[in-house]
Amino acid sequence: MSFNIDTIRADFPILQREVNGKPLVYLDNAATSQKPQIVIDAIVDYYSNYNANIHRGVHALSQEATDKYEEARQKIQHHFNVGKAHEIIFTSGTTHGINLVAHGFSSLLNANDEVIVSALEHHSNIVPWQMLCEKTGAVLKVIPMTQEGALDMAAYNTLLSSKTKLVFVNQISNALGTINPIQDIIEAAHKVDAAVLIDGAQACAHIKSDLQALDVDFYVTSAHKMCGPTGVGVLYGKEKWLNKLPPYQGGGEMIAEVTFEKTTYADLPHKFEAGTPNICGGIAFGTAIDYLNKIGFHAIATYEHELLTYATAQLLQIEGLTIYGTSSDKTSVISFNLKGIHPYDVGTILDKLGIAVRTGHHCAQPIMNFYNIPGTVRASFAFYNTKEEVDLLVSGVRRAQQMLT
Ligand SMILES: *Cc1c(COP(=O)(O)O)cnc(C)c1O
Repeated sequence: MSFNIDTIRADFPILQREVNGKPLVYLDNAATSQKPQIVIDAIVDYYSNYNANIHRGVHALSQEATDKYEEARQKIQHHFNVGKAHEIIFTSGTTHGINLVAHGFSSLLNANDEVIVSALEHHSNIVPWQMLCEKTGAVLKVIPMTQEGALDMAAYNTLLSSKTKLVFVNQISNALGTINPIQDIIEAAHKVDAAVLIDGAQACAHIKSDLQALDVDFYVTSAHKMCGPTGVGVLYGKEKWLNKLPPYQGGGEMIAEVTFEKTTYADLPHKFEAGTPNICGGIAFGTAIDYLNKIGFHAIATYEHELLTYATAQLLQIEGLTIYGTSSDKTSVISFNLKGIHPYDVGTILDKLGIAVRTGHHCAQPIMNFYNIPGTVRASFAFYNTKEEVDLLVSGVRRAQQMLT
């Protein structure tokens, strides 16, 4: 399919609306993406036609819902080139997936074992590991970042040792857009027999990842960042790791047999899927993945890179504007500040003009501390944004600067 921005925009009903009397310019895609009609239809279809609980029912609706849910698991499996469907665990999202793995490792780590995080992480890939370290006495090491907002790979290599048990890094930074060299990170960690978890939340809308080729041990993401609904995501884990980890939550669906003397756990993936899941969300996640693949990740990346290059050049013409995150390998996220002006004030004026950006620390306070700033204005572009919208952003930022100085 060729990339036609007009037909793509027509797929997203929300892009037709106005905000504050102006056409919506939605540039907060790093926080969540918008949803195409086909995903909205999948949700309506589920609740209108075959809503039922899965896996247990003998009746037709339950069978239909189970089939669709398991079909979605397989779509996700194939999208990420995962070997076995039961290595895909449905979660409520990235945060849930990371907590599940961190909880599991609390029974595998000892005091003085080391785990490695990066300076570029979202809080959800920092806090669960700090909790793990408090519980186990393991030591948290941090890969430092450079002024450009990239990881210091030389420093990473010196942190690795036989004490390292686990490394967790994001594929793309949500605050700066930096694409991290995860292939190198994984290979180096495996040389010292450490496992690696990659937080793919920010990457999945931009890059199609082959998890077998990457040889990653765990990979987490959220559907809502890639045109799917909120409240659903997946954890991929290599079978050998998922078998090693204890269950995260106890309840229905995750057991083989329950007596008051002893309970045995179900096989993968059910061992990690206690309770009634987000059935409709899982199914619609599959629809979202089909939709993105139909457009094609190569076309998406090429187009978004054009937007990034254009927007960067236009914004840099504004005097007193600084962009944070200038790595040569980055995706369509631009974090910036205007000299002497608080990011929140810029965001408020842009909102009056119908332009949605995010302001603040973007759940990545260590990055803001590194640059010694309270936060940034972040414009993040998706494949349904346009150059005209970039122009509106740039004129909006100029207007904000005039009003605030
Ligand atoms: C959005 C995001 C998260 C958190 O995802 P949730 O869906 O809120 O659980 C974690 N890491 C990165 C890099 C993100 O962009």
